[in-house]
Amino acid sequence: MEKTINELIAYCGVDCSACPDYQNGVCPSCRRTEWTADDICMPVKCCREKSIISCGDCADFPCGDMKEFYGESESHAEAYRRMLAAGGDSK
Ligand code: SF4
Ligand code: SF4
Repeated sequence: MEKTINELIAYCGVDCSACPDYQNGVCPSCRRTEWTADDICMPVKCCREKSIISCGDCADFPCGDMKEFYGESESHAEAYRRMLAAGGDSK
């Protein structure tokens, strides 16, 4: 079955709807941001190049860079668990 994309869950798994910038209208969320080629978030670029919905669907998940990212805070750890759950049915 084809996966549906929750536009407010970022490529890395972070929940944009819980972010103050999103709530205050400062940022439209990662998926709706118009990234420029020379200023694009690494997982966004990487997922788009691989044509995958998010890092949870990556064969290398979590890669070294993302491992570091997921260890940075509780919200990032939550993103990791979300990605584990999302990727679980495709591996
Ligand atoms: S790491 Fe990238 S995809 Fe994840 S929340 Fe930050 S900008 Fe969005
Ligand atoms: S986990 Fe995979 S898709 Fe995500 S940044 Fe790392 S290599 Fe790219």
